Amino acid sequence: MQPNLLILGGTVEATALCKLVHAAGLQAIVSFAGRVDRPALHPVPRRIGGFGGVDGLVTYLRDNAVTHVIDATHPFAAQMSRNAVEACALARIPLVALTRAPWQAESGDDWIRVRDIPSAVAVLNGQPKRVMLAVGRMHLDEFAPNPQHFYLLRLVDAPAIPPNFPDHHVLVSRGPFTTDNDRALMQDHGIDLVVSKNAGGTGAYAKIEAARQLGLPVIMIDRPDLPDRVEVNDPQKVLDWVHGTTERGV
Ligand code: NAP
Repeated sequence: MQPNLLILGGTVEATALCKLVHAAGLQAIVSFAGRVDRPALHPVPRRIGGFGGVDGLVTYLRDNAVTHVIDATHPFAAQMSRNAVEACALARIPLVALTRAPWQAESGDDWIRVRDIPSAVAVLNGQPKRVMLAVGRMHLDEFAPNPQHFYLLRLVDAPAIPPNFPDHHVLVSRGPFTTDNDRALMQDHGIDLVVSKNAGGTGAYAKIEAARQLGLPVIMIDRPDLPDRVEVNDPQKVLDWVHGTTERGV
């Protein structure tokens, strides 16, 4: 049976995997949630939009004769990852997650680690500060209970409706970001605190290095818990996994 992959995307790792899959001549489709206006170009066909929960994903897998699912979503896309585990179990289709290690604090970092976004909001419940809020467009409203701060918001797309903060600045940019530029950005806006998800990887790390160099605290939001699943951390290992499961007839 020829493999027919469904790649759950939205990350640089998914993009790298699509290039490898295309080069290997494997049949695949990459799926995006549709959160950004212009998803990055991928050399495999794509579909856009939710599946309709676990049941919708099971139906999609069956209707499209998917043989393998690769969850290459962002580590904070927990709902999609949970749905993928459940749907693949129901449809008896092998699943692998392409993941990246979380960042670890190193010498010079001043991290306030919190377990989730509500905890980050609670930590910000104090005197007005100038905050670089790097949590993505979908979570901005959760910070509305702390309107006393100035918020620097760097977003992939301009927000459809203005953020619910009296004092803010929106910067539309999808990177890549450099430490020097992020340090200058923080200095230009007089930032004295950064809020970040522990995304891991290199793409969003510049702000963490910049904060370290400027001696700024970072409220670092831990990753959500996910169910057990097979994980690899290198796109090439996904191909090895596909070949391994295909040969074994899993
Ligand atoms: P989420 O909360 O885990 O997912 C919510 C719902 O969005 C899912 O139940 C699913 O809808 C749909 N969805 C999510 N990812 C999808 C995908 N790749 N293809 C099709 N439908 C998808 O996800 P999220 O945190 O909003 O992230 C959405 C997308 O943005 C993901 O692809 C992720 O890789 C990317 N991303 C997220 C972050 C982040 O910080 N969360 C950062 C960078 C990129 P149905 O239940 O209807 O199937």
